[in-house]
Amino acid sequence: MRCKQCKEKAVLFMPAHRLALCKGHYPSWFRKQVQRAIDRFRMIRPGERVLVAVSGGKDSGALWHALHHLGYETEGLYMHLGIRIEGYSDQSYEAVCRLAEKLGRPLHVVDFQEELGMGIDEVRGATNRPPCSACGLSKRYHMNQAARRLGFSVIATGHNLDDEAVTLLNNVLAWNTEFMVRQAPVLPEDEGFVRKVKPLIFLEEKQTTVYALVEGVPFERDECPFSVGSTNLHLKDVMYRLEAHSPGTKRRFVEGFFQWRAQWLDKALKTKPDLRACAVCGYPTTAEVCAYCRLKAQIQRHLTIVS
Ligand code: SF4
Ligand code: ZN
Ligand code: ZN
Repeated sequence: MRCKQCKEKAVLFMPAHRLALCKGHYPSWFRKQVQRAIDRFRMIRPGERVLVAVSGGKDSGALWHALHHLGYETEGLYMHLGIRIEGYSDQSYEAVCRLAEKLGRPLHVVDFQEELGMGIDEVRGATNRPPCSACGLSKRYHMNQAARRLGFSVIATGHNLDDEAVTLLNNVLAWNTEFMVRQAPVLPEDEGFVRKVKPLIFLEEKQTTVYALVEGVPFERDECPFSVGSTNLHLKDVMYRLEAHSPGTKRRFVEGFFQWRAQWLDKALKTKPDLRACAVCGYPTTAEVCAYCRLKAQIQRHLTIVS
């Protein structure tokens, strides 16, 4: 396959776009798609500093690199989850440090061992909670709190089109409408919550991987050990087959959802729950004490009993 622009050997053929590009022309095409999503959904305001949530994986790494090269003033935020299985967290941290150095940008770190009193791989033993549920909850919490503490009004995350399509399929299969209301390219700022944006929303996982490889973005190749065998991986496989059979399926699925969502969003938002400040930490919550503080209290009780 040859590059559409210069006839050199292509690094990637994208059937949904009917486009093949070489390693010289691909990165600028990729960044253009990122910029398009930012403009279309008004994700970032002119001159706004952006906090990029980086996990050490290819998607968030590609995102940080692309935003930096598009001229945005970025800083990185890494959550050290304390997952020791196969040295996952330490290796991810190392990749993120190398990227921060390559870009010459500051990196902020939240250490779960310090914050929670244990790594994510120990949480099940202490609380009986599945690691991914405690992890997701704690990541959302600390992402928001770190952004506020550091004076950022926007956080960018590396969710790609595959993630979005799989999450949507999962939500549709369970008719989880509450989650669907919150699934959007932009989650606007709200009392106590910083705006969250997903600039890779229309880029496929394969496209972010190729970008990371071509641009020499350091990333951890192993997935989180807790993702193995998850429902999401099965759904990813289903989506992959649908896409192979009919290129553009993922995009139509997600794009159609956003259009439909925009039509009934106002109505949905009118029924949004009343938020108040958590009695312990002040984080916005619908309960007396927020879910994160309850998780932390559960862990503390466990640590008191075992000590
Ligand atoms: Fe956290 Fe689960 Fe994702 Fe691993 S797979 S990073 S534990 S949410
Ligand atoms: Zn070319
Ligand atoms: Zn709290």
